[in-house]
Amino acid sequence: MFSILFTWLFATPAYASQNVVLITLDGVRHQESPLSPSGKLCWPRLRQALTNQTVLEASPYSQMQISASNAELISLPAYQNIFVGHPTTCLTNQCGQVQESTFIDALIDKLTIQPSGIAIVASWSEIAKAVSKRYAELITLDVPTDVRSDQDSVARAKTLIGTHDYRFFYLSLNDSDERAHLGDWPGYLQAIQNYDRWITDIMTLARGLGPNWTFFITTDHGRGDGKRWTDHGAEVPESADLWLIVTSFKPDTYWQWPISIAKPMTHDHLRPMIEFFFKSTDQNQNKRTIL
Ligand SMILES: [Zn+2]
Ligand SMILES: [Zn+2]
Repeated sequence: MFSILFTWLFATPAYASQNVVLITLDGVRHQESPLSPSGKLCWPRLRQALTNQTVLEASPYSQMQISASNAELISLPAYQNIFVGHPTTCLTNQCGQVQESTFIDALIDKLTIQPSGIAIVASWSEIAKAVSKRYAELITLDVPTDVRSDQDSVARAKTLIGTHDYRFFYLSLNDSDERAHLGDWPGYLQAIQNYDRWITDIMTLARGLGPNWTFFITTDHGRGDGKRWTDHGAEVPESADLWLIVTSFKPDTYWQWPISIAKPMTHDHLRPMIEFFFKSTDQNQNKRTIL
């Protein structure tokens, strides 16, 4: 199916300890993403920060595209898909705890990352049902009982990130989707402008902790075109179109290491891309192609 391969000159240091941050912004359309010509206006700080440090961009405006691979195009099925690496049996936002091992389980079981080196901060309680099958009790998992403001989650993340050498840090933000479902266009744009400020603040904090940080920034689903912008789901097929940014503080000084990845990408590719950072060079020599 994926016969066209795109060679991605991925950058990674040979042995240096890597820290990966994954940030998901719920239901931010590609039209308002940092990669869209009009969306860039909402993202002045991040666009500036990405200069000379972007490793990969995927969107309808980029050489590479990315789409959802779950058919439901709603949140919890998409988050479980991201963490497991393929669509799961989860079909609704009430589907319950993930039933398969996630990459967080693999980081601990196979890649010798301590549970204490993994932190999750989310504005929506159900994120706890996507990230780990086995280790939710052992990792740092800061989620509300239902929902809380992104401002609160970001404050918690900023406090947490400097307290420990977190090898993997996940921040899941939600205001964008909440405002969009209400049809509140100014509120949706304000949420995105807040993300621009908060993400660059977190990047600045991380930079102060060391050079070996790589950020993945993406969304769980898109939204409809035109008047359907408030909605997403199986009946809104264009909400499968996504965007992804991978950015690293020192891509130029990393040795260039080629990986071929399928084009177009899907959410399924995030798991192997993230796990790549936690494998030794020897392990990666045998795995040059992510399909
Ligand atoms: Zn969502
Ligand atoms: Zn939604």
